[in-house]
Amino acid sequence: MNKCPECSHDLVNVIYGFPTPKLVDIARAEGIALGGCNFGPDMPTHYCYGCQESFPKIEGPAIYEELPPIFSE
Ligand SMILES: [Zn+2]
Repeated sequence: MNKCPECSHDLVNVIYGFPTPKLVDIARAEGIALGGCNFGPDMPTHYCYGCQESFPKIEGPAIYEELPPIFSE
């Protein structure tokens, strides 16, 4: 697993699509991050729970501020 270049925290994979209860459990354990149902070719693939950044970083205005945790609702 990769380490965050900014804080050396472990990066987790961003999982897109409808979050099943099992995926939410894994995300709560910080094993993955949930990216939601909207995704495209330029979406980040990894997420750092240490500094709450997504990687690779995306330039410009986007919806990524809505990235995880989305399971807080
Ligand atoms: Zn980090």
